Amino acid sequence: MARTLIRAHTVLTQSSSLGNIRLGAIVVENGVIRSIGPLGEFEANGPYEMLLGDPERHLALPGFVNGHHHTLRPVRVGLRASPLETWLVRQRQRQLPPLSPEEVYDHTLWGTLQFLKSGVTAVVDHYPYDPRIEELGAPASVQAYLDAGVRAAVCLSFADQQRYVYQDDATFCSSLPKELDGQLRAKLRPSDADGFFALWERLAARFDGREGRIRLGFGPNGPQWCSDDLLQRMRRTADEHGHAPVQIHLMESPYQAMYGYRRYDKSIARHLADIGFFGPAASAAHCVWLSREDIRLLADVGAVAVHNPSSNLLLFNGICPVADLLDGGVPVGFGLDAAGLNDTMDFLTDLRLGLLLQRRPGWDRREVTASDMLAMATHGGAAALGMGTALGRLEEGFPADVVLVDRARLYGSPYVAPSAPAEEVLLRRGAAEDVDCVMVAGRLVIDRGKAVGIDEARLQSRVAESLQLTYESLASMDGFSERLEPHIMDFYRKWDAESGGMLPPNYQVNTR
Ligand SMILES: [Zn+2]
Repeated sequence: MARTLIRAHTVLTQSSSLGNIRLGAIVVENGVIRSIGPLGEFEANGPYEMLLGDPERHLALPGFVNGHHHTLRPVRVGLRASPLETWLVRQRQRQLPPLSPEEVYDHTLWGTLQFLKSGVTAVVDHYPYDPRIEELGAPASVQAYLDAGVRAAVCLSFADQQRYVYQDDATFCSSLPKELDGQLRAKLRPSDADGFFALWERLAARFDGREGRIRLGFGPNGPQWCSDDLLQRMRRTADEHGHAPVQIHLMESPYQAMYGYRRYDKSIARHLADIGFFGPAASAAHCVWLSREDIRLLADVGAVAVHNPSSNLLLFNGICPVADLLDGGVPVGFGLDAAGLNDTMDFLTDLRLGLLLQRRPGWDRREVTASDMLAMATHGGAAALGMGTALGRLEEGFPADVVLVDRARLYGSPYVAPSAPAEEVLLRRGAAEDVDCVMVAGRLVIDRGKAVGIDEARLQSRVAESLQLTYESLASMDGFSERLEPHIMDFYRKWDAESGGMLPPNYQVNTR
């Protein structure tokens, strides 16, 4: 039986019983952690077929879970952003040319490598719905995930209402000048929910559980874009399929929060609970505009709240009340949402942003620490994958998803006291370039910063070529959005004027 010995200067196990192990070792057998403890105990118990890690140089930690992402086609990179409600319409008006299965494969593989190289070993992919691509491209995406070597919950998105503003499409169209009304109506297509569910069932039969690393799930876009019937049908079907993961965008913007009170006279999170939407492996991305009561509700139903700080800032949405979520007992995960701080998908730099954003002025505030951030990044969001809870910790019997970070730059430019807590140093200074090795289920997928068995340069040039064709076709499409956008802004300006005390301030930043 092939055995690997991983050695490290310090093992950050994220296990409450093991803590950090100075001069530690992990024995991996058949993809699983067979034992973990002080290096001295294991070094003599060879032979080992593979030795990994340097006890002078490496920090070992569990692989990160990218708890909310859109891997396919990096549509945000380098583009002007605007508040979510206009940005989304602009995205949807751009009928990008459909990708071929080969392009889907390349885009997914390239996108995966971006975060894999920063230590992410599992992803919840809120997967775009484009019926022009055969089977939505899901078979090619799943294959790319398998070849990259990561775990992926592929949550197929779908929506069936209110595509332009948070009001039914016909009413909104009627409020527009005649010419825009006609053009917009011409773009409206009835959504085919039966076709979507039939396709989901076919794909689940083929891919759910594949190699123990893939789950097929549902990604309802958001409660304002999905009817109650659709949300309930997704929940039912997920439960019939071994509690498949279900991920929704929730209260990302203030207008999404207002929508609940305007439409149902209660919070939209409360409405989702009332219709039975939450359940096992349920997760909610963003959660920026939750009230205290919403936080209690998420804790009660056990849904994972996924924190996406770069995306929330990029699209003018605000700061997620992470301290309150943690205090309230909500499981909190962390995700890139295809919007990394530097236009890269570096999980470590985004964790740093997440850490610093929570430093509120004043005393006696619940501090979100580097340890909190590491917990969120590893086991905090693992339940959202629907792969059981035995992920995100280095413990005996857990899957061997292990990251080795080189301490040399972290501690050596020019000097950091060895007594500084490793979590602090990693979160203050770490970046993808410090990640040396990544192992998933005992298989080495990143070795000395390079993807094992993948020609990255060729892959990148194929993706660049495909994106160039896509974006050159865009310029002619933006005129329509520019005429539509002022009407969308007017729609929500009215909501602002009418909002009164609808959204009390729920998180302190620059208020006292
Ligand atoms: Zn998203």
